[in-house]
Amino acid sequence: MTYIPSKKLTDNAKTVLEELNTRTEPLKPKDRMAIPAQEMPSQDPAVRRCNMEEVATGYTAEQAKLEAERCLQCKTAPCVAGCPVAIDIPGFIQAIADGDNQKAADILKKDTLLPAVCGRVCPQETQCQAPCTVGKVLKDIEKSVNIGRLERYIADWEREQGLIETPAVKPETGKKVGIIGTGPAGLTVAADVRREGHSVTLFEAFHKPGGVMVYGIPEFRLPKAIVQKEIDTLTAMGCKLETNYVVGRTRKIADLLEKDGFDALFIATGAGLPRFMNIEGENLVGVYSANEYLTRSNLMRAYDKERAATPIFDSEKVAVLGGGNVAMDAARTAVRLGAKEVHLIYRRTEVEMPARVEEVGHAKEEGVIFHMLENPKRILSDEKGWVSGIECLRYELGEPDDSGRRRPIATEGSEFEIEIDTVIVAIGNDSNPLIRQTTPGLETNKWGNIIADESGKTSIDRIYAGGDIVLGAATVILAMGEGRTAAASINQMLAK
Ligand code: FAD
Ligand code: SF4
Ligand code: SF4
Repeated sequence: MTYIPSKKLTDNAKTVLEELNTRTEPLKPKDRMAIPAQEMPSQDPAVRRCNMEEVATGYTAEQAKLEAERCLQCKTAPCVAGCPVAIDIPGFIQAIADGDNQKAADILKKDTLLPAVCGRVCPQETQCQAPCTVGKVLKDIEKSVNIGRLERYIADWEREQGLIETPAVKPETGKKVGIIGTGPAGLTVAADVRREGHSVTLFEAFHKPGGVMVYGIPEFRLPKAIVQKEIDTLTAMGCKLETNYVVGRTRKIADLLEKDGFDALFIATGAGLPRFMNIEGENLVGVYSANEYLTRSNLMRAYDKERAATPIFDSEKVAVLGGGNVAMDAARTAVRLGAKEVHLIYRRTEVEMPARVEEVGHAKEEGVIFHMLENPKRILSDEKGWVSGIECLRYELGEPDDSGRRRPIATEGSEFEIEIDTVIVAIGNDSNPLIRQTTPGLETNKWGNIIADESGKTSIDRIYAGGDIVLGAATVILAMGEGRTAAASINQMLAK
């Protein structure tokens, strides 16, 4: 990934667009494929590594128009099959090409509640953009039509123009629905159920709503104001919000149903329980789970050292363990919090890394040092019980394992040490057991995820579930899609 200054990108777009506008003949597919794929303007890496502001600054109107002109409007639209909520992708892109942004926004809103979020964080390269005909013909997935960036452009345009309207709510039905968790799954159910006129109360364990979109994904990838806008819309629709409310402790599921008069509940508590490596030294001072590190930085503003109630210790040398999006977010946050060196340690190679290619590229541009085919054996301590280093082993790849990825095998006797003062463990999350433990009869699978059928119904009548608590750690769009399905099912049940 090579950083291209934003001005150069936007100047190029203007020139190409002027040239296209001089044409009198309609564009042929080969003309469309000759239009350069529009890169995302972004902050210079040397600047952004010192601030929390969004890295990608968004397409200009010219870039969006040009990118939209690259779409071939395929009859079979393979891109739609790649989108978990089957957005009418050619439809909204054609509207941009025609200069009708409002129509594009209306098309998007039919299938997604959170286009500004999905346009930013969806793994498009493995979803809608993977089967795109343009990428296939040009034999380069990076040349697929940039569907996510166009989606973000339209959602931002609508918000910045002040055109987002509060959706109409049908007359009150007198039915009460409780939603536990305010991530993408919970927010989607809230909107869809409230529209039908049912009373909606959202319960959130944290002091702020938004789930991982607020406490996990950093500001420099997803500005919190965007998520807050969605929450404001829900409150304007009449949804009630109870924060610092831990269902299972503050009140049990059975109480909500039997004593508080809820007609249905939707559990969307996510997968927020961090996994650890279970190696020597994981209890030392200076070891964090990525969840704790990111939550302190994002939600409790630990980076604001003068004012934060729970500031993070100033690290000099940080090791981040893992290779997913969470690891990239933690490593890039550590850079911004002033660490001089950030080492990302992963036991496979970059090819097997689950993180988005774009995030890996951004992390490298910002100076994160990648250690591939290495894994920690133990964390080393100084005499006061603080982290002083990490002992690693070198690895090589064997045959593919159950996940289809080649199995990492440790090379005996390859131990070496890296001097560090902070370790962030980012090797995955499980679901929190609290609701499972306090709700007799609620069936879960061997990983502790709630079992729900294809309509979101759980083993207990009137209780529905969706998002990461059902799927295991997944994605925003999948959580949102599950929310849509469950909301339809709840609305149907309450209509009887
Ligand atoms: P969550 O977003 O996890 O929200 C659950 C909410 O429930 C939380 O607010 C939690 O506090 C609350 N809760 C939990 N227990 C209780 C309780 N007992 N009572 C009340 N409230 C409770 N996905 C992508 O698509 N793209 C990305 O780039 C991406 N990056 C990620 C980066 C990080 C750091 C993390 C952690 C995840 C990332 N994901 C990404 C995954 C994505 O964010 C999740 O799949 C998605 O948010 C799941 O949505 P959800 O609604 O199921 O739950
Ligand atoms: Fe692509 Fe995500 Fe938008 Fe679907 S919601 S079109 S997968 S960016
Ligand atoms: Fe456009 Fe690509 Fe979808 Fe075809 S597959 S309609 S080119 S976005």
